[in-house]
Amino acid sequence: MRHDHVAIIGGGFSGTLLAVNLLRHDGPRATLIERRPHTARGVAYAAAHPDHLLNVRADNMSALPDDPGHFARWLETAHGGRIKGFAPRLVYGDYLDALLAETVARSGGRLRVVQAEAIDVAPGADGMRVMLAGGEAIVADHVVLAPGNLPPHTPAGIDPSVLPAGCYAADPWSADIAADLAPDDVVLVLGTGLTMVDIALLLDARGFGGRIVALSRRGLLPRPHAEGVAKTQRAERPEPTAVGLLRAVRTRAREIEWRSAIDELRPYTQSIWRAMALPERHRFLRHLRAWWDVHRHRLAPSVWDKIEAMRADGRLDVGAAKLIDAHPDGDHAIVRYRPRHGDTVGTLRVRRIVNGTGPQGDLTATQEPLLRALTGRGLLRADPLRIGIDVDQDSQAIGRDGTASDRLIAVGPMTRGAFWEIVAVPDIRRQAWSVARRLSNAQWVGGEGL
Ligand SMILES: Cc1cc2nc3c(=O)[nH]c(=O)nc-3n(C[C@H](O)[C@H](O)[C@H](O)COP(=O)(O)OP(=O)(O)OC[C@H]3O[C@@H](n4cnc5c(N)ncnc54)[C@H](O)[C@@H]3O)c2cc1C
Repeated sequence: MRHDHVAIIGGGFSGTLLAVNLLRHDGPRATLIERRPHTARGVAYAAAHPDHLLNVRADNMSALPDDPGHFARWLETAHGGRIKGFAPRLVYGDYLDALLAETVARSGGRLRVVQAEAIDVAPGADGMRVMLAGGEAIVADHVVLAPGNLPPHTPAGIDPSVLPAGCYAADPWSADIAADLAPDDVVLVLGTGLTMVDIALLLDARGFGGRIVALSRRGLLPRPHAEGVAKTQRAERPEPTAVGLLRAVRTRAREIEWRSAIDELRPYTQSIWRAMALPERHRFLRHLRAWWDVHRHRLAPSVWDKIEAMRADGRLDVGAAKLIDAHPDGDHAIVRYRPRHGDTVGTLRVRRIVNGTGPQGDLTATQEPLLRALTGRGLLRADPLRIGIDVDQDSQAIGRDGTASDRLIAVGPMTRGAFWEIVAVPDIRRQAWSVARRLSNAQWVGGEGL
């Protein structure tokens, strides 16, 4: 098979890093297709506010797995050592921008960035034909899908069409979520995880002094990072069952700090997931996922302090409840909810409802034209847990007939069905690096054992 040209659809972190690594490994030429005006930053590092910080320390945020100090050195040069620890996400976006621009400049035309939406991919005798919304087509030997997460679904009980204009905010990172709010308004956030924290910080930064109520089934808040937590190593992989994992973490958390007990699982997480039988994976998602998320994906300490201060001032209430429905009331909405422990029904009069339920991955429910087209063609299918795109251990897309394609590959958080731990930079950078090396035929040359 020829390896002359790779088309990468989606120019966020995953797609950009794939393109950068193809060039670094002297691989095939690449075309990076991104529909937004900004390439490289993606969702996480574009629409952030200066108060939105990375939730991983700078010394573990290098985009290049074989050069762990790359981001820290860039920070030192670009910001003269003024930013340490948890850098603003916007600054990380600048870093990715700079990395891509430098790679394009050095590529001698081997890396091209195209601003367009890809709407379909058709396999043919001459290669994979990527159809763009404007009617053009790009032919490549391989196509890598890097579309990022699917946007959150509209929560059950919410019908945006009956609510007053501006009352329901589907995009939690839109600056509009703070528009036209009065000081005595109440904003309801659906979700209590990292997205909710972003929303609360954004409302605070925009001067909203009213009350924010955040509700989720369990009402769990992400936990904070702490200084001076010891790096420990596990002697062996825990038993690959939901109960086995829970037991292993609880036992270790009695011996060492709980953060260390979670962090030392990291080298094993993908292999535990791989070894888990499907019913165990279901069990993990149903019973442990919410707990895993809040302990594993933590807040920078300064962000935790801000959130705690808002709670102490009565400006942020976090609760466990299930939304029942929302009805219009002038330019407000009356929301009914059922608290987790109790038979009562609570009501709230709110000016805005923000969807902070977090990203989705169910391919069968997506409205994305490209993913629908590929699923319709039988080139993609949902993974058995319906949390993303089904891929094999080489990130090759598995089609309707169960065959993995060596021409269609997927990277990034939508491959979580196969890898689970594939949402944050340290895992995605490794995946992008490995796929790029394979497409460059460089997998046998040095650099193994990262
Ligand atoms: C708010 C937020 C904060 C995060 N913070 C951290 C952090 O602090 N530390 C950490 O390690 N991880 C963090 N993450 C996780 C991780 O870094 C991101 O999930 C990662 O950036 C994912 O990148 P991506 O390229 O796969 O997806 P995205 O960033 O979503 O990029 C996908 C891109 O594909 C484009 N696209 C999609 N479909 C098409 C199409 N058909 N045609 C053309 N273009 C298309 C989209 O426009 C988009 O730009 C965060 C994630 C989020 C959402």
